[in-house]
Amino acid sequence: MHGLMMDTPLLITDLIRFADRNHGDTEIVSKTAEGSIHRYTYRDAHARARRLAKALQALGVKASERVGTLAWNGYRHYELYYAISGIGAVINTINPRLFPDQITYISNHAENTALFFDLTFVPLVEKLAPQLKSVKHFVLMTDRAHMPARTAIPGLLCYEELMQKQDDRFEWPAFDERTAAALCYTSGTTGNPKGVLYGHRSTVLHAYGAALPDALDLSARDAVLPVVPMFHANAWSLPYACTMVGAKMVFPGPHLDGKSVYELIEQEKVTLSAGVPTVWLMLLQHLAAQKVKFSTLKRTVIGGSACPPAMIRAFQEEYGVTVFHAWGMTEMSPLGTVGSLKARQAALSKEEQRAVQAKQGRGIFGVDMKIVDEEGKELPWDGKRFGNLLVRGPWIASGYMKGEGGDVLKDGWFPTGDVATIDPDGYMQITDRSKDVIKSGGEWISSIDLENIAVAHPAIQEAAVIGIRHPKWDERPIVVAVKKAGQELTREELLKFYEGKIAKWWMPDDVVFVPELPHTATGKLSKLTLREKFKDYRLPG
Ligand code: ADP
Repeated sequence: MHGLMMDTPLLITDLIRFADRNHGDTEIVSKTAEGSIHRYTYRDAHARARRLAKALQALGVKASERVGTLAWNGYRHYELYYAISGIGAVINTINPRLFPDQITYISNHAENTALFFDLTFVPLVEKLAPQLKSVKHFVLMTDRAHMPARTAIPGLLCYEELMQKQDDRFEWPAFDERTAAALCYTSGTTGNPKGVLYGHRSTVLHAYGAALPDALDLSARDAVLPVVPMFHANAWSLPYACTMVGAKMVFPGPHLDGKSVYELIEQEKVTLSAGVPTVWLMLLQHLAAQKVKFSTLKRTVIGGSACPPAMIRAFQEEYGVTVFHAWGMTEMSPLGTVGSLKARQAALSKEEQRAVQAKQGRGIFGVDMKIVDEEGKELPWDGKRFGNLLVRGPWIASGYMKGEGGDVLKDGWFPTGDVATIDPDGYMQITDRSKDVIKSGGEWISSIDLENIAVAHPAIQEAAVIGIRHPKWDERPIVVAVKKAGQELTREELLKFYEGKIAKWWMPDDVVFVPELPHTATGKLSKLTLREKFKDYRLPG
């Protein structure tokens, strides 16, 4: 209709252009793979991203071509995020913790024509280079001084040299907002990894959603440290959403141990951080051992796997840091729900509040949710009935790259593979991944609930609950747990700890203590590996 609002496309480069104009002096600080601290501003980052765009074009990178990265969170990776998408090409962030065969598979499947990587990954790329069939340019993300004297990588290029050859006189091209911008592969716990393609429009809308007060609550007053890697589902949008609001960004590089993360938080006056529970476990251990506290950190986003209530309590009560429990998937850009409290919940006791926060959170506008039973019939939001969780919205995948996996949608909804309840306030709680639920006597037992109880025991460091075949009940739960260093605990003591906290038939049949638990490339408990290990395990009695 005449006089309707303008129809300007939502493009990723508008974010960095905006940050340059409105927050030009705000800092981006990086701990680098070279071991130094690098600082510059959004204005500098924008200028360098434009230089890089010219460098990419000089290498011959064309619109819609894919360019791979094997890199930590740092300023050069940030520049690649904007420059690659900004010229209409697609950045394929590869998780370097995957098996080498999977990395090769992903790079070949994506048909990456160039690969940018950090110093840490030189040995890995030397090994893989002969198999990376589509890659024409290997670029090491460093300066001349750090280039290896000798290398098996064919025609190895230096990032800073490519940059030096260019200037920053460059206008970002305008194109359709439905153009692909980024590509991330799911970990593929079964079968080959599958590619999820993010568009410019979906990425910008997702950043708006992420920045909302009841989502990640980002503003120009924040200093944000994404511990969650930029190769793991867009670092939960932080490189985009922080740019959108002009928050200071602090990148940890490869330094993710408790001590390094703590020191960086203190030095750079970080107010918000985000990552998976495993990383926070290391940080909390460091804090406890060194008897130190945070002076600026106010909020932390914990997601990717269930955040145990014990962790929420430790952060909030011992360190004064509010926890936002978040849930999402690579296929959802990734944010789906975030667990902030509503006004009336302020009157609840701390324990009741924690119970709400232990849920995976409320929906963000842009993500529609429903739960259905085995027949696909929608279930009520009563906080009790659980079913398969489906989602839809403008930043949720409609399928996988190259049509892999076929038509995945069910009547326009994306099946998450998670099993959940939703309560009348809209808080969603994951009881399990559908492949992890324990089926006992025709009923479901939530492995996450049982794990949360185990890790609330003061002597337990980490715990996983898996189902073991049972002749009568089909499956029964066992706890596989790691004790905290120097702590004593028996099987009987841990089982006793469960009494009164769960229905009798949920009581684990056994406890097995192990020195460590297996994790996936994204730092989650690998139940698949664990089930494999315990496949011949015999239940007592
Ligand atoms: P993958 O682990 O397969 O690589 P993702 O990182 O996309 O892929 O993981 C998505 C899955 O992680 C979700 O479907 C869900 O099972 C799990 N997950 C994510 N966040 C949470 C959370 N806060 N609590 C429980 N499970 C979670």
